[in-house]
Amino acid sequence: MTYFWFNIALVLAVALVISLRKRREDAKDFTKELRSRKADLPAAQAAHEREISRLLDAFPSPFFSISESGNIIRYNQAAASLFQDRTILNRSYRQVFIDRDLCGAIKEARETQRPKSETLRFNSKSPFATAEDEKQDSVWEVNIQAHSVTKNEREFQLLMRDITKATYSDQVRQDFVANASHELRTPLSIIVGYLENLLEPGGLEQTDIAEKMLLTMNRHVERINCIVEEMLVISRLESPDAAPLNIAPFNLLSCVHDVVEQLDPVIERQKATVKIDVPSIEMRGDSFYWTQILFNLVENALKQNATLPFKVTVTAQEIPDNQIQITVTDNGIGIPSADLPFIFKRFFRVEKHHGQNVIKGTGLGLSIVKRAIEAHQGTITAASTPGQKTTFRIVAPL
Ligand code: ADP
Repeated sequence: MTYFWFNIALVLAVALVISLRKRREDAKDFTKELRSRKADLPAAQAAHEREISRLLDAFPSPFFSISESGNIIRYNQAAASLFQDRTILNRSYRQVFIDRDLCGAIKEARETQRPKSETLRFNSKSPFATAEDEKQDSVWEVNIQAHSVTKNEREFQLLMRDITKATYSDQVRQDFVANASHELRTPLSIIVGYLENLLEPGGLEQTDIAEKMLLTMNRHVERINCIVEEMLVISRLESPDAAPLNIAPFNLLSCVHDVVEQLDPVIERQKATVKIDVPSIEMRGDSFYWTQILFNLVENALKQNATLPFKVTVTAQEIPDNQIQITVTDNGIGIPSADLPFIFKRFFRVEKHHGQNVIKGTGLGLSIVKRAIEAHQGTITAASTPGQKTTFRIVAPL
């Protein structure tokens, strides 16, 4: 009997020991897991940070997070590229941005705790300068939002969008409409004035005067026609959904000969000599536009007041990287250096030529030339020493 109870006690003791061991092991496992979780915490945080950075970098506009104390604590790739090698992390936004208006907008958002949106302009010295023309300001849309990190701590998010191109293309469009209306109004008002005269009682009786009026009207109708045609060419070249260029091989020398032939009457009238130094070379491009490019350049050279003996030279030569360089040079009146930067702008005519009795052009010829060359991935530049030499130089892929 004693033996029986002894066995029972033994079994219970063994069960108790096993259960205690199991508990101890469970407790050990639990501690181990806690430790490993703790060890994993910085790694998880780092992965989370990387994910946030990846998302922000995918965003094409500059983004900055500013701490409660005013330091930049996070920024994306687009923001970094604006500051290149400059350190901006953990620096005060006032030291980094410097710009008074931008700092003012951030200060206001921080003080009022309200979202702030503004359109700001930056000059060419600012890190936010993106305008192609150094003289133009760059325009950015700025958004600042407060965001609570903890109960008592806030961050400010600054998101910026570059709207320079959109702003200026809007401006260019407005200028184009204003200039076009102005250019069309002048010949139109002359035509309207003469028509009123002719329609008055007895207006047609003096036939010699009536004929003069009709001839003047005809000249102005031709001018309107010319402006409208050239405006259509420009709008075709600028329209994003315009039919692509009709690219095919053509002979450059034949193209130059065609242009000179078309301009023969002007060449004769101006008593000019046109020298052609162009190889018989095959080019690929839209020969319609290349003819127009060369026509406008040679015609411009011929149109200006000639200093005799008046000479226009057209040259072309192959240059490295499978490119061609074409030049059109004349020894006419030239272009003052102050006007040179503007000659490719629409409707621009050199002031001095305005004084002439007859308006010689529409001011659209060179902007067509520039856009047509750019459509062929080429470039055009102009240099002039008034009264001596004016050269237009084109470089384009062959
Ligand atoms: P336009 O139709 O008036 O010729 P363009 O756009 O072709 O317009 O030229 C703009 C202005 O540039 C002209 O009005 C003229 O004053 C000047 N220009 C262009 N080419 C020459 C040149 N070869 N010599 C002198 N002035 C030139």
